[in-house]
Amino acid sequence: MRWEGQRESDNVEDRRGMGPARVGGVGGLGLGGIVLVLAVSYFTGINPVTLLNMLNGVQEITDSSAPSEPAPTAPAGSPSDKLGKFAGVVLADTETTCRQLLGPQYEDPRLVLFTGAVQSACGTTSSAVGPFYCPRDHKVYLDLSFFNEMSQRLGAPGDFAQAYVIAHEVGHHVQNLMGIAEKVTRLQRQASEREGNALSVKMELQADCFAGVWGHHAKRERNLIEPGDFEEGLRAASAIGDDRLQKMSRGSVQPESWTHGSSEQRMTWLRKGLETGDPKACDTFTNNRL
Ligand SMILES: [Zn+2]
Repeated sequence: MRWEGQRESDNVEDRRGMGPARVGGVGGLGLGGIVLVLAVSYFTGINPVTLLNMLNGVQEITDSSAPSEPAPTAPAGSPSDKLGKFAGVVLADTETTCRQLLGPQYEDPRLVLFTGAVQSACGTTSSAVGPFYCPRDHKVYLDLSFFNEMSQRLGAPGDFAQAYVIAHEVGHHVQNLMGIAEKVTRLQRQASEREGNALSVKMELQADCFAGVWGHHAKRERNLIEPGDFEEGLRAASAIGDDRLQKMSRGSVQPESWTHGSSEQRMTWLRKGLETGDPKACDTFTNNRL
């Protein structure tokens, strides 16, 4: 990507190296849960990130109407390192695209960079969960070490693969603003576990498609995209498909337990966004290809 020298967002909170204010919030995964996951991981040999990915899908669409905790008043500074600046440029470019497509009423989300664990209005969360969006405080939470995990363990390197991850979480913010997240949460309350998972998959695939919509505009209007970038993104979408992660962790595949979609589905919807640049093309809920 040609990102250096581009505008960085003012909406980045750099909390790296600070740690959470306290441990054990509501809605997120408490320390007990983390220890449990690490213990299960230790005894089974399953990657804790894989184990926690399933929790992540649930967490991302937490009810947005619940009362929020006061936001942590951590001092925030702009990142001065390359990866932090990169995240700021990607976020800024999603702001430009979303305002263009959704109108001036679009409210920017904030991006919190952290290491290890973080406190949000959704509770205290370990970075083992992976990047997530908290609808209660409109913030995306990202431990940049996830990008090492992607390139080294999951075989998905590259700056556009990283940008896709950020844009996917911004996609959840858009779903929150549009009321989609709330509707899905309401439907999930009355649904069986299997139906609830299917709804989660549709949410996730739509976020992938929205990420693609951003990529389309970053290329066409601001020339940020270099040859090979979109392929990096599609490789990443494939790498984090539920079928692949399940195969990696336990050797078998159980589609009814998927919360994010298969490699094929994730690539299909990311590609649809990249090709069309149109959020209306991202209707995963009625499109009968699902
Ligand atoms: Zn997601």
